Amino acid sequence: MTSKKVHIAGAGMAGLCTAARARELGLDAVVHEKGNRPGGSMLLSSCVVWRYRDLDEFRAECSGGDPDLQREVIERLDDAIAWLRSLRAKVVWEETGNPRTVGVRFDPHSLTEVLARAAGEVRLGTAAPEDAEQLLLATGGFQGDRELVHEHIAPGGELLVRANRWSTGDGLRHALARGAALSAGMREFYGRAMPAPPAAIPEERFVDLAQLYGRHALVLDDEGREFAPDPISWSETDLVQAIGRRPNASAWYLVDEEALEVEIRGRTVGEMVESARAAGGEVLLPNELGVELPGAYRYAVHVVAGITHTIGGLRIDPQARVLRADGTPIEGLYAAGADAGGISTGGYASGLASALVFGRIAAETVASL
Ligand SMILES: Cc1cc2nc3c(=O)[nH]c(=O)nc-3n(C[C@H](O)[C@H](O)[C@H](O)COP(=O)(O)OP(=O)(O)OC[C@H]3O[C@@H](n4cnc5c(N)ncnc54)[C@H](O)[C@@H]3O)c2cc1C
Repeated sequence: MTSKKVHIAGAGMAGLCTAARARELGLDAVVHEKGNRPGGSMLLSSCVVWRYRDLDEFRAECSGGDPDLQREVIERLDDAIAWLRSLRAKVVWEETGNPRTVGVRFDPHSLTEVLARAAGEVRLGTAAPEDAEQLLLATGGFQGDRELVHEHIAPGGELLVRANRWSTGDGLRHALARGAALSAGMREFYGRAMPAPPAAIPEERFVDLAQLYGRHALVLDDEGREFAPDPISWSETDLVQAIGRRPNASAWYLVDEEALEVEIRGRTVGEMVESARAAGGEVLLPNELGVELPGAYRYAVHVVAGITHTIGGLRIDPQARVLRADGTPIEGLYAAGADAGGISTGGYASGLASALVFGRIAAETVASL
């Protein structure tokens, strides 16, 4: 008897987890990767895999997300992290450092390496066969496609793509052509404020050049107007989305002496400002902005909204099956990771966690057929 075969588009977090789990379950898995390396955005990430403490908190933080999908993340993540440990992925922190959440931080190189090994066959520079009987879409969202970003997110300027360069909505297009429905939250994205051009931001510096101190700054748009949400959320996802909708998708962060001393995720605001300056970003004296300010500030840092991944995407069910608008599944078509939308709608949740959980679920669904 030949084993069931699943084709997987994308060798990032979701695709590799699906393949590794599929092989454990006795399936034949082939991973097709458009880029020239496995790992996708996972390899570029801080690699903190986390969840909210319980479903109520997840609902409160991400109220527009599908509760059935959120429940899967809450209930299955701990076992899935234990599975990653069992594959010998190197853990660098045993906790997230955030009291709202539980999880661990992996070393992204180690995680990519162990998953790629467990996934078996990874074909680089290839696309999955469109007519595969069992196909998992794990192409990582559509943030890399300017047209799709303008159509769904409608930014006020060009967002900086803070992600692997190959995630251009291929999964979304494929599934839409087969009658798939879109999830809630197509306008939303997760991202970070980054030093605005002319700053040079190579992909290996997406983490350390992030400007994480919007809550400690006066935030003005390029026309000198205040617009930040009040209050700004802990993850600043709402602020970054709001910056993305302003003219040029950019803003000024004005910081005073006191703010410069504040420490966020192991770095002071002053260090983050210096990193923006060293990367060639605009760091001005506040009087150089030419607007009247409500207080005394030390620096004005020009930032642009960076898009890390889309939050909206394909509608899936708790078995990772892609759904039509009438709620019926499209036979043989699955999605996980950022291709699947509607999980963290209205807020922010770990993209690695949902990629891991729904990647494993997709493999289990195919195995159960
Ligand atoms: C700087 C940075 C920091 C981050 N920090 C964190 C963090 O600490 N915690 C967290 O939870 N998340 C974090 N993330 C987000 C996290 O990396 C993503 O949510 C996660 O990688 C999504 O998994 P995925 O499999 O959907 O996409 P990816 O891991 O990006 O993989 C998608 C893969 O699909 C490939 N692909 C695209 N199109 C095709 C095609 N047509 N055919 C075949 N292959 C294709 C891409 O090349 C890529 O390899 C961060 C991301 C970045 C960039």
